[in-house]
Amino acid sequence: MSQRVHNFSAGPAALPVEVLEQVRDELLDFRGTGASIIEASHRGKAYDRLHHEAMEDLATLLGFGAEHSVIFMGGGARSQFALVAMNLLGDGWGGYVNTGRWSDTAIGEAGKVGEVREIWSSKDAGFDHVPGADAFPSAAGAAYLHSTSNNTVAGTEILYDPSPEDAGATLVCDMSSDLLSRKVDVGRYGLIYAGAQKNLGPAGVTLVIARADVLERSRAAGLPAVFTYADQAAKRSLLNTPPVFPIYVVGLVLKRLLALGGLAATEALARNKSDMVYSAIDTSAGFYSGHAQRDSRSRMNVTFKTPSADLDDSFVEGAADAGLVGLKGHRSVGGLRASIYNSVPRASVETLVEYMQEFQRTHG
Ligand code: PMP
Repeated sequence: MSQRVHNFSAGPAALPVEVLEQVRDELLDFRGTGASIIEASHRGKAYDRLHHEAMEDLATLLGFGAEHSVIFMGGGARSQFALVAMNLLGDGWGGYVNTGRWSDTAIGEAGKVGEVREIWSSKDAGFDHVPGADAFPSAAGAAYLHSTSNNTVAGTEILYDPSPEDAGATLVCDMSSDLLSRKVDVGRYGLIYAGAQKNLGPAGVTLVIARADVLERSRAAGLPAVFTYADQAAKRSLLNTPPVFPIYVVGLVLKRLLALGGLAATEALARNKSDMVYSAIDTSAGFYSGHAQRDSRSRMNVTFKTPSADLDDSFVEGAADAGLVGLKGHRSVGGLRASIYNSVPRASVETLVEYMQEFQRTHG
């Protein structure tokens, strides 16, 4: 596997090599069925089993029970920006915590559906912070309160589960870029959604975890069945042909996470890996500077820069030569970004830190 790069891409992102190997090994003949899983009926036994196991494994990992349902949908996280509003707004309004580019887009998309109110924003500060645990805003009277747990572009993260009682509304959270990187109190959320392509698997499936009361509310919206959370949940996401290949791979990733010790293990590893990069920034005597305020730092996307845009470019070029890819910052923030999701090995992060130190020594 020496030809594999150290992959710091923001998404689609690194997958565990063991999972990729299993996919390769099973691709032509899925577990003795004589056909690939992507050639098999989604109503057949082989697929049905892995579909339901993926749902159960997700519930086991996150520790939620029958009160919440897992729904696999297509359309990416971005389609949920609209679907949340379409299913849940009714005649009411949606409250939004604007912590980054994706929250901002969610507000814009939901605003095409109905009334939205931005109740908190760090936009004027370049999205360099999130609300602190004792200052999460409330949206009493809202149909729901939407937040984004990890801001992929700015590199900030809300590392606590807000209280729905204090918020005064059903909590909806976009966890696209940090789901399964820490324990989450799922009971606090009416709805969680996440595109798979960062922490969970390939692009093409979006995971939705919805509470029974939210499903019930979605019925009243009168939307076509494929867009209605309650209809999708009632059919266990087999209302129509689901994205079978991404669900299969997500299922393998979930089994691996369970085998590694569940979310306590992923949480410790995420903390450890991100601390290594932040420490390289903090001990660089100002050569590297982080974008996020310290108490808002993301464990998934570390955003930083060197003293100049030219040096940032040299950093990215030199890194690519050394087999470290995906380190260019998002165009809206500039600089550098190391995305270190669950499947990025610790060894890759060690290599990155060595490269950062060497780059500083030769360019500082
Ligand atoms: N939310 C967040 C937090 C994201 O990082 C992204 C993708 N970068 C999206 C939403 C949009 O996801 P998708 O491309 O799956 O629509």
